[in-house]
Amino acid sequence: MRGKSHFISQCPLCSHKYQKDSVRILEQEGDARLMHMTCGKCKNAVLALVVTSKAVVGSVGMMTDLTVKDVVRLREKEAVTEEELLEFHTLLKQQPQQWLQHIQS
Ligand SMILES: [Zn+2]
Repeated sequence: MRGKSHFISQCPLCSHKYQKDSVRILEQEGDARLMHMTCGKCKNAVLALVVTSKAVVGSVGMMTDLTVKDVVRLREKEAVTEEELLEFHTLLKQQPQQWLQHIQS
């Protein structure tokens, strides 16, 4: 995973650079990764779905009140399927007001 993690490198709110240990990869399913970042400065947490494939590198993020533990607990209830990740992706697309950033490179 190293070398691919440059898409969200700083806090969208205060531009503080994320420290390595404040970024958690919660799920990895094929090309999609669900990540949780906590800003070391303003303490705001962002949940991001990051998709990396040969054709597309993109990410969507939203503010979350969930801690890493909360998210892990939620995700542990059921196995994550590709459909669920796609649904999450679609949800973020349909609710642009919740987006903090949308990066495509
Ligand atoms: Zn911040």
